[in-house]
Amino acid sequence: MRYVSTRSAGFGLLPPQPFSTILLEGLAPDGGLAVPENYARFTPAELAALRPLDYRQLAFAVLSRYADDIPAADLQAIIDRTYTAATFGSDEIAPLLALEPNLFLLRVSNGPTLAFKDIALQLLANLFEYVLAKQHATLNILGATSGDTGSSAELAMRGKRGLSVFMLSPKGKMSPFQTAQMYSLTDANIFNIAIDGVFDDCQDIVKSLAGDAAFKRQFHIGAVNSINWARIAAQVVYYFKGYFAATSRDDEQVSFAVPSGNFGNVLAGHVARQMGLPIRRLIVATNENDVLDEFFRSGRYRVRRAAETLQTSSPSMDISKASNFERFVFDLTDRDAVAVAALWRDVEARGGFDLAGTPFGRRLRDAGFVSGRSTHADRLKTIRMLAERYDVVVDPHTADGVKVGLERREAGVPLICIETALPAKFSTTIREALGYEPKRPPAYEGLEALPQRFVTLPADVAAVKSFVARHAHA
Ligand SMILES: *Cc1c(COP(=O)(O)O)cnc(C)c1O
Repeated sequence: MRYVSTRSAGFGLLPPQPFSTILLEGLAPDGGLAVPENYARFTPAELAALRPLDYRQLAFAVLSRYADDIPAADLQAIIDRTYTAATFGSDEIAPLLALEPNLFLLRVSNGPTLAFKDIALQLLANLFEYVLAKQHATLNILGATSGDTGSSAELAMRGKRGLSVFMLSPKGKMSPFQTAQMYSLTDANIFNIAIDGVFDDCQDIVKSLAGDAAFKRQFHIGAVNSINWARIAAQVVYYFKGYFAATSRDDEQVSFAVPSGNFGNVLAGHVARQMGLPIRRLIVATNENDVLDEFFRSGRYRVRRAAETLQTSSPSMDISKASNFERFVFDLTDRDAVAVAALWRDVEARGGFDLAGTPFGRRLRDAGFVSGRSTHADRLKTIRMLAERYDVVVDPHTADGVKVGLERREAGVPLICIETALPAKFSTTIREALGYEPKRPPAYEGLEALPQRFVTLPADVAAVKSFVARHAHA
């Protein structure tokens, strides 16, 4: 499998690249995102053969289609040491909970940071370590987090040879638990950079530095944001897992409700569908930052400025410029890189684009996506409803997904709501909804009292660049 850019026929100015190359690169040299030349498609017979597989076997079946320049035995070994009961709480890795007939919760948040990001980042860390050792190379990871990617990446990469992590986070805008989880890591290869700004500022700085070819080359800069294709590929696996767990026939359709911010999770669902998984609807749930809901309702993509991005009680979705969305639009245009490049020039120049009334707008209506928005009051109501009716406590992001999922649910179609974090990470909102504290796994007692280590920098590319240059792995 070779990878191209969403903005040109090759990988930027280069010919299509193999997996191990794009694994270490964030953006293509032309500013586009790496996508596989095609989606590996399972025939119905191949799909049926996947049903009895356990999570690690399923992960190999999916990932070997994309990471095909890693020898099969090595890839299986990487997968086997990533997806363990010790790291993810059970060999199920992503257990499915039935709330009632045809209504499920897919629990992908049982990793070390209690959010679904661990599914991808635990794998990514092991892939990085493997590829770097083979190439005798080092890598400085540069990332931006709205709360969960940061701790997930740092816990996965801490102490790994040849790797340093520079993680930008919006100062004072994450939950105390999220903040403590990240800032309490004191490993020498972990650098927490608190930015005076919002998540989109952090992401813009990372994108700007990732587009700086000379800087990237000099300091071996890599990405862990969900713009990294390997993360998407890792997340595709649990759509298969959830599908097989919720169905008993191979032609049955299911819908997924997905709390969305940077559009990575739901993009993985889109990829799973392109690979042949019978998904009926992908239900995109946003919070009050509803750029994606507006798009799926109207065809109009209108990014918001940092100052218009609201701080909400589902903070990991406080995103107004969803990076991975470009990969979906690439498919929507039937993989027309020239059209995508033009649309993103409109994003730069005019803050968005409108597909309504264009041929792409018509394709959007048939793309199998629906959307909805959820507010703070909706989250509280949904958390209470799930606790009363099903005796489960969900986190505020999962609540956004369930709220919109139930609105867009169709009779007779199994609905799988993806649980993106555990409630322990967001105790303030849980207390507000239920009047009591969520259960906290014992390993996390006293987390907020640990000493914290971070530097504060302004939302300024040059300041971050100079910090990275001073501390980067040679
Ligand atoms: C990252 C995150 C999201 C958003 O996922 P995307 O892949 O960015 O759309 C939703 N909920 C939680 C808890 C998250 O950590």
